[in-house]
Amino acid sequence: MFSFTTIKNYQSFLATHADGCKIAVDYYLSEIENNKRLNSFLEVFTHEARERAAFLDEERKAGKPSGKLHGVVVALKDVISYKGHITSASSKILENYTAVYNATAVEKLLDAGAIIIGRNNCDEFAMGSSNENSAFGAVKNAIDENRVPGGSSGGSAVAVQAGMSMIALGSDTGGSVRQPADFCGIVGLKPTYGRVSRYGLIAYASSFDQIGIFSKTVEDAALVLEVIAGDDAFDSTASQHPVPAYSSEIESGKKYRIAYFKEALENKALDTEIAGSIRTYIQTLQEDGHQVDAIDFELLDYIVPVYYVLTTAEASSNLSRFDGVKYGHRAKLAEGDDLNELYKKSRSEGFGKEVQRRIILGTFVLSSGYYDAYFTKAQQVRQLLSEQTRAILGQYDAIIMPTVPTPAFKIGEKNDDPIEMFLADIYTVFANLVGIPAISIPLFTHSNGMPFGLQVLTSQHKEVSLLSISERMMQLKN
Ligand code: GLN
Repeated sequence: MFSFTTIKNYQSFLATHADGCKIAVDYYLSEIENNKRLNSFLEVFTHEARERAAFLDEERKAGKPSGKLHGVVVALKDVISYKGHITSASSKILENYTAVYNATAVEKLLDAGAIIIGRNNCDEFAMGSSNENSAFGAVKNAIDENRVPGGSSGGSAVAVQAGMSMIALGSDTGGSVRQPADFCGIVGLKPTYGRVSRYGLIAYASSFDQIGIFSKTVEDAALVLEVIAGDDAFDSTASQHPVPAYSSEIESGKKYRIAYFKEALENKALDTEIAGSIRTYIQTLQEDGHQVDAIDFELLDYIVPVYYVLTTAEASSNLSRFDGVKYGHRAKLAEGDDLNELYKKSRSEGFGKEVQRRIILGTFVLSSGYYDAYFTKAQQVRQLLSEQTRAILGQYDAIIMPTVPTPAFKIGEKNDDPIEMFLADIYTVFANLVGIPAISIPLFTHSNGMPFGLQVLTSQHKEVSLLSISERMMQLKN
């Protein structure tokens, strides 16, 4: 029977199996079928994936050089454009929208030989932390089906968690890759802002959005990053820094200077068991020869409000194109309805509750009477956060903190209070506000049986250190 551990091992398997890609694709297609109830996939590209596998098997037989991700089975969050396929942002407003070009990340995956197996459910327009905001139903956590997988990239996380794909790409604006990775017990990497082109990623908040990677191991995340990262003429914010060969540059023998925020571990909302596990783990790191210091970070309480002011402002602007004329669902009009009515009805019918809430909030903070009080103020705090973070990361190689204050909660448990859901983003939104890379690695299990991770953050473009530290931490897990 087929079983997957790492891309490297899979590639050795391919070297000895002439129809290895076919075996892998058939295996994943049947796993997707067996796990249908989890609602992780909105669409499965059965026929195409089989054809692609056959093509790649032939390519190997002919001894043609294949890319670094030859035969690797990948699932895509429903906000990443894949030419000729529906990309709906899990929203009714884009239910019938077919992408007219490939996202750059997808183009690079395909060039490297990957097989795209399907499109994953997510929170509508990537807004949420539980995947309950999808227009196409909630996703279930495979470890406990009464619990959420996290969000917004919940379907992608479950695809990797439950073994329905080797890798999945998600997007992370404020934690949407790291938080579901934490809830599902897998690796979730958000690279430096701009490290991966955003071309073809449906925008939520453009100065925060970044494509990220779900995998079972740090090594696989490194290999995928090395393929999808890089400059792009189609995205002026894409980083021009050269892309290191991350997977071969990981080294786990170094000793690091690591900081953690006192306020983060003393936060009242933090589950005591999570706090306890991280404190114990800090000792493990010290025993392994790393310097780990507690430092003050008084701005911690400001980051959630700043994030929600700025991202909703950007969202209100980004989502204005979905109006029933330029894009998306168009409402049926009654006699006498004018253009305004068309916009209003189309948007009210097409967008779900959470998306509407954020558009309204964003429009409010950008409105002329409130602009300075909210938007400008939040920009100033963002600047302050960046300066303080730069100073800290001038002295330390990395910062560690919890990924989420609690393990995965029950489906429906947090639906009544949006603020409570927002506050749980306290540890993840920080990296997006300051543009640094961050990863959640699956180190712990809670007494309730659910996994949880540790978050590691480094300076911009220091993914090699980020991945190296994480690799060492995974080794220290046992
Ligand atoms: N949970 C956060 C939010 O709702 C993060 C979303 C994301 O990263 N896309 O905005």
